[in-house]
Amino acid sequence: MSLTALKIENLSKSYGKRLAVKELSLEISPGEIFALLGPNGAGKSTTINMITGAIRIGSGRIEVFGHSIRKDYLLTRRLIGVMHQEIVIDTFFTINRAIKIHSGYYGVPDDPAWRNTLLERLGLVPHLDKPMNKLSGGLKRRFMIAKALIHKPRLLILDEPTAGVDVELRHSLWEFVREINAKGTTVLLTTHYLEEAEQLCERIAIMDNGSLVALENKEKLLDRLAGRKMTLTLDTPPTFSGDIFSSLNISTQVEGNKIIFCLKDGILPGNILQILQQNNIQVLDIETEKPALEDVFLTLTGKKPLTRKNNNCL
Ligand code: ADP
Repeated sequence: MSLTALKIENLSKSYGKRLAVKELSLEISPGEIFALLGPNGAGKSTTINMITGAIRIGSGRIEVFGHSIRKDYLLTRRLIGVMHQEIVIDTFFTINRAIKIHSGYYGVPDDPAWRNTLLERLGLVPHLDKPMNKLSGGLKRRFMIAKALIHKPRLLILDEPTAGVDVELRHSLWEFVREINAKGTTVLLTTHYLEEAEQLCERIAIMDNGSLVALENKEKLLDRLAGRKMTLTLDTPPTFSGDIFSSLNISTQVEGNKIIFCLKDGILPGNILQILQQNNIQVLDIETEKPALEDVFLTLTGKKPLTRKNNNCL
């Protein structure tokens, strides 16, 4: 088996004078769910479109399971399933007809058992005879996932899969993606909903202005850039000076009998507790909060992502 599901080497693409993707290199292993994040205009769709062959590679190289997408286009096209951001449907076909003929586009024979599994699992069975133009937005999205998977691709690309999707459907789509992944399909996800990347992915790449600005394991990315917040509860409001922590060069904030620390640059809770112990200060409770990916994103790109609460201390 190939060691990489997707290998991108020095990939660039310009539109006129605008360099949309600049010397991008990354590798995704078989079985991963990998997130490609970035603000609007970062170059994510241009990258995806080069992988799927929808647009020509400017320069560089892309391999899917060891096959060049330039030299082995027909094969790599079959190995990839893509769900695009925009809703693309065959307006007058019913779901049943559209899904039946779709695997033929890849030269793959229709497999009724697999087709039925997808339709059932995605809740499409009660809607089989409805024409596409009569489907709700949520049903269209579910159909598009079924369509992306009908030819049993080994690499599933989801380009902003839950944009404009309600919470319930979003969660059921995530569950389905996990299920497909557990059965062996590698997943590349682009999103600017950071919650999606946090929930689904182990490794995350962040693009900005066409370039890769981070590529790391999720936890490492969070630890490296965002810092954890630690709150200590003392038996009485602190009477000592913050100078006792000067050796750690750490910022502190006092709220009643609580002290809040921002754990950055390799400072561990133990370093702080040791200082408190040396100064005979009694600690009643310790609470640490995980940083949010949105702060990492903001630090790296300077742009606010579409997301939820802020719970760390950048
Ligand atoms: P993202 O998917 O991260 O939002 P895109 O890949 O769509 O980013 O866009 C990257 C850059 O390339 C943007 O500056 C965008 O305006 C430009 N761009 C994308 N597609 C085209 C196109 N067909 N023609 C001209 N410029 C484009």
